[in-house]
Amino acid sequence: MARRKLSSQQKARIANIQEKRRQKLAAKVESKLAETEGQEHRSGRVIVRHGQNVIIRDENNQQIHAMFRQNLGDVVCGDNVVWQSTADNEGVVVAVLDRDSSLSRPDYSGREKPLAANITRLIVVLAPEPEPTGYLLDQYLIAAELIGVEAVICLNKADLMTPEQQQAFHQQFSHYEKIGYPIIQISAKQHDGLEPLFEKLKDNTSILVGQSGVGKSSLINALIPQEHVEEGKLSEATGLGKHTTSAATLYRLNYGGEIIDSPGVRSFRLGKIDRRQLETGFHEFTDYLGQCRFHNCQHNAEPGCAIRAAVEAGTIHPDRLTNFLHMAQQLEH
Ligand code: GDP
Ligand code: ZN
Repeated sequence: MARRKLSSQQKARIANIQEKRRQKLAAKVESKLAETEGQEHRSGRVIVRHGQNVIIRDENNQQIHAMFRQNLGDVVCGDNVVWQSTADNEGVVVAVLDRDSSLSRPDYSGREKPLAANITRLIVVLAPEPEPTGYLLDQYLIAAELIGVEAVICLNKADLMTPEQQQAFHQQFSHYEKIGYPIIQISAKQHDGLEPLFEKLKDNTSILVGQSGVGKSSLINALIPQEHVEEGKLSEATGLGKHTTSAATLYRLNYGGEIIDSPGVRSFRLGKIDRRQLETGFHEFTDYLGQCRFHNCQHNAEPGCAIRAAVEAGTIHPDRLTNFLHMAQQLEH
């Protein structure tokens, strides 16, 4: 069915309703702010956000519903905030602290919008099915380098792999361990091999990324304890039903650490980058950058290329250079 065009009168009516709603919300935040008079400033962490509502975790691990003024900008899951409590045991966020890292993606207008903040680790999930590609893996690893977080490669569905497949996988990917990306084999379905992963998650705020079908949801279910965020509180506060939110949510893990999860976070991909960022994203290249004979070396066929020399010397894996060249070519389009 074709979408009905709105008349200018209808548009004005909708804009009017939206403006009234905005004003009402702003007034609500202001009146809450008035209630915080004389209350001490406290620190908290944003667990989930919906519109101008957030659930924050306070110093005592209590969850509190809070609101924030629009002028605070984008407040996202994982943000560290300063807040004050109100008479009704709720809160108002008064400041958002600087982020150590932030995961963002372009919105419909192309503007980078943060999805989650203060992540320290990216877990790239691979599986024998759908077949993993080093190219996609490298895109995730570069994203991790550029956000400034550590990456771990998690090979799921190990239960499906024959010894031959295990060996083939090892041949294809073991060079990543040499450049600092640990590989952990697990079976999310059978809850097998998870201990080394718990070690990596401990003391970190992690996110899971990877192709559809590799088992991210299964792994999340295996990791996240069942006493989820108090969704009731948020739905009550926002008037939205339970489970209607797919907003990024911070979970504490039983074995230590935290995971931020949402469909948007799981399908996070490398955004727009320039050539310089691409070069530094291949972090084992950095030792050689600036050493090529030509300052604008493409590391393709130029004489005196330090990157190619490193490939020949065996310190850079040829697949990494191939993927780099391919990505560099994509950048030009
Ligand atoms: P997602 O798209 O990455 O979230 O993947 P899902 O968690 O939905 O899993 C995709 C399919 O793989 C489902 O049919 C899962 O049951 C299956 N699966 C997930 N983990 C494992 C595993 O460790 N072993 C096996 N054999 N199947 C798995
Ligand atoms: Zn070069």
